[in-house]
Amino acid sequence: MPDSPALHAPRVLGIAIPSPLRRLFDYLAAGPEPDEGWAPGLRVRVSFGRRQVVGVVIECRDTSDLPLDRLKPIDACLDKAPLPDDWLWLCRFTARYYQHALGDTLMHAMPVLLRQGRALEARVRERWLALDGGDDGGDDALARVARAPKQAELWHMLRQHPHGLVTQAILAQSFSREQLRALAAKGLAERREEALTQADPGQAAGLLASPALALNSEQATALAGLHEGLDRFHPCLLHGVTGSGKTEVYLQLIEAVVTKGRQALVLVPEIGLTPQTLSRFRQRFRVPVVALHSGLSDHERLDAWEAAASGRAPIIIGTRSAIFTPLARPGVIIVDEEHDGSFKQQDGLRYHARDLAVVRAKHHAVPLVLGSATPALETLHRARQGDYRHLHLRQRATRYAPARLELVDLKGRVRRGGLIPPVLDTIGATLKAGHQVLVFINRRGFAPTLACHACGWMADCDHCDARMTWHRQPPLLACHHCDRRRVLPDACPKCGSADLRPLGSGTERSEETLAEHFPGVPVHRIDRDSTRAKDALESMLGEIRRGEPALLVGTQMLAKGHHLPHVTLVVVVNADAGLYASDFRALEHSAQLLEQVAGRAGRAAHPGRVLVQTMHPDDPSLSLLSSRGYDALADSLLDERRIAALPPFRFMALLRLESPREDQVTALGREAASALRGYLAERSLEVDCLGPVPAPMERRQNRYHLQVMLMAPRRSQLHEAGAWLIHYLEDSREARRVRWSLDIDPMTLS
Ligand code: ADP
Ligand code: ZN
Ligand code: ZN
Repeated sequence: MPDSPALHAPRVLGIAIPSPLRRLFDYLAAGPEPDEGWAPGLRVRVSFGRRQVVGVVIECRDTSDLPLDRLKPIDACLDKAPLPDDWLWLCRFTARYYQHALGDTLMHAMPVLLRQGRALEARVRERWLALDGGDDGGDDALARVARAPKQAELWHMLRQHPHGLVTQAILAQSFSREQLRALAAKGLAERREEALTQADPGQAAGLLASPALALNSEQATALAGLHEGLDRFHPCLLHGVTGSGKTEVYLQLIEAVVTKGRQALVLVPEIGLTPQTLSRFRQRFRVPVVALHSGLSDHERLDAWEAAASGRAPIIIGTRSAIFTPLARPGVIIVDEEHDGSFKQQDGLRYHARDLAVVRAKHHAVPLVLGSATPALETLHRARQGDYRHLHLRQRATRYAPARLELVDLKGRVRRGGLIPPVLDTIGATLKAGHQVLVFINRRGFAPTLACHACGWMADCDHCDARMTWHRQPPLLACHHCDRRRVLPDACPKCGSADLRPLGSGTERSEETLAEHFPGVPVHRIDRDSTRAKDALESMLGEIRRGEPALLVGTQMLAKGHHLPHVTLVVVVNADAGLYASDFRALEHSAQLLEQVAGRAGRAAHPGRVLVQTMHPDDPSLSLLSSRGYDALADSLLDERRIAALPPFRFMALLRLESPREDQVTALGREAASALRGYLAERSLEVDCLGPVPAPMERRQNRYHLQVMLMAPRRSQLHEAGAWLIHYLEDSREARRVRWSLDIDPMTLS
C-alpha cells in the first residue's frame, strides 16, 4: 500500500522569530499544507509570548527537543510558496558570519510589508486600450458616444495611444472612472492588468535606448577582461581614477549580461544614488531599471523586490540593503565606490554589503566587479594576493588627468572663514577666468564651537564628551552626536563676559566669508542642513551645471559622485582631521575622501588644481599622497598594517558595551574580557583580546562606552571566540543591564 502523504508531512517547524535570541522556536505545523509542502522560507504567523509575530520556517522535522504536546500550533501560513532560495541562503550566511540572530536578520532583509505579513505577489495596475467598436468601424462607435462628449473625447485620446494608457494617466487628464467603465460597457475600451514593473511595450526595438560610447583602449581591455568570466565566479577590482569611465564599463558589461537573459545587481553608496546616476542607467537601457533607495514607499519597495525575485527586473540598482534583493537569474554583481563607508551598517545587523556581495557572487557563480578610484586596503590586499583580478584605468576618459594635491601651509597664517589670503587670491583669479570653485570643509554649521575670549570657556555638550556646534541658520548650539540643542548664550556662563567668539570654521562661516569677499558671485552651500528640503540639492546642482562662475561650499555630500564639469579649482579647508586620529583606519579614509574631493576638479574642458590647507605639510603620509597619489600611500599604509599585524593581515571583532552607569559597564567589560582570556588559554586559540578600554568618545548621550577588541590570524578562531563571548554575555546576569554588541570586521573603532 502506498504511504499516505500525511505520514511524511513534518509535524514540527523550527521557526526564526524576530527577536535578538539566537535560536529557533519549535511550533506544530497546522492548517492547510502549502502548495509545495512545508519548506524552509515560508512565512508563518505565530503567537510568541503575548504577541503575534511573523516568523520564517527554517527547519521542517518530525521531532523536537520539547515534548510535542507542549508545542503550540502555528496560527497561519502566509505564503503559498517559500520566499526565494537565494535570499534565504544569504540571510543564513549573514546571520552566521556576523553572529546575529537569524530572525532579526531575516526581518532586516525583507521589505516592511513582507515583515508585516503581506503577500508576495506582483501588484498590478490597469491599462486601458481603445477598441474600434466592431465591424463597421468608427461611425458606429461615434454614434455610441454621440450624446456623451466627454466619453468621445476619452475614446479619441485612447486611440492616439496604441499601447494604451494606465488609469492614473487618464485620471490625471480629468477623466473619471465612470467614463472609462461606460466606454468599456459600450465595447469601445478594454481594461488590462499588468505587473507594475514591466518592460516597456516598445522593448522589441532592442536593449539599448541610446548607443554605448566607443571605449578607449584601457576601458576596452578592462571590459575584455570582465568578459572572460561571465559564466563563473570571477571577482575583479576595477581600479580606475575618478573620471576614468568606470561607469561606462559597468554599463557595457550589464548590456552583455542582460542580453544573455540574466540580471545585474548594482550597489552604490548612499550618496551615489543620485537622479544623475539613475538617469545614466535609464537613458542607456530600454528595459526597466529598478532603483532601491530610501525615498521609496513600502509598496514601491515590495514591488521592486517582487520584480527582482520574479526576474522581471533585469537591472537593479540600490544602496547597502539592496544586497538582500532576491534575483531569479543573477548575472553579475557590481559594487561601485566599493571603499565607501556607507556599505557597512553601523548598528543592529552590522553587515558589510561589499563583503556580502563577494560571497553572494561566489554562491551564484557570477562575476563580481568592485569599482573604485581609491580601493579599500582590504580589497587592494586581496587583489595583490591574486584573489581578485586587478584591472586598471589610469587615464581619464575626458581630456585632463586628475590634478595632484598641492599642500598649503597654514602655520602662522591669518585665516578668514578658514581660508588664508593666497588661497583667497587663487579663488578670485579662478572666478575671474569664468570658472567655478569648490571649497570642501567637512563640518557643517557656523563654527565647531563657541568660546569665551575672556576665560576660555567652551560650549560643551552636557551629555557627550564633545563640543556643541554653533549654527547661524537658525541660530543655536547643537551637538552633532546626540542632537541636543541649546539657545546661544548672550554672555559667558562662567565669567559673564560678552566676548564670545567662534572657534574654527564650518560651512556656514566659509559661506559667509566667501560671500563678503567675492560680492556678486553666487555662493551655494551644500550640506545636510541646506539640502533638507526635497529637491533642494537637485535644484542647486541644476543651477551649478549652468556653468556661470560660482562658489560651491560643501561637505562630503558634494565631494562624492557628482559630476561638476565647470569646477577647475578645489580647495580643502583643512586636511588634518585624519592625520593624528586614534583609529587605525582614519588615514586611509581621509586619503580616500581627499582623492574623491580632488577628483571633482577639471573634469571637462579645463585642467584642474587642488589646494589642500594643512598645519602639517611635512607629514610623511600627506606628502606621499600629494607627491605620488593614493596608490603609493596605500602601499605604505599596507606595509604599516602588516608590521602592526592589523587588518587586513589579521581579522578583527569589536565588542561594544554601553550603559548610563559607568561602574556597571566597566565591571562587565572587565569580567567578560577576563573570562574570554581564560577560554582562549584553555582552548589554545590564537586570538588576542585587548581591553576593556574606553571608546574614543567615552560619554555619548549620557551613556558610557567601552570596548574589547579581538584580533586573530585565522577567521575560524576569531569566530569561535566571538561565539563563546556571545554565549557568555547572553547567560550573564550583569549583561542584562548593559547594552552590548559584537561587530565583526568593524570599520571604525568609535
Ligand atoms: P568614473 O565612473 O570612473 O568616475 P565616468 O564613467 O563617470 O567615470 O566617466 C567620466 C566622464 O567621461 C563621463 O562624462 C562619461 O560620459 C565620459 N566617458 C566615459 N567613457 C568615455 C568614452 N569611452 N568616451 C567618451 N567619454 C567617456
Ligand atoms: Zn568666560
Ligand atoms: Zn551631545
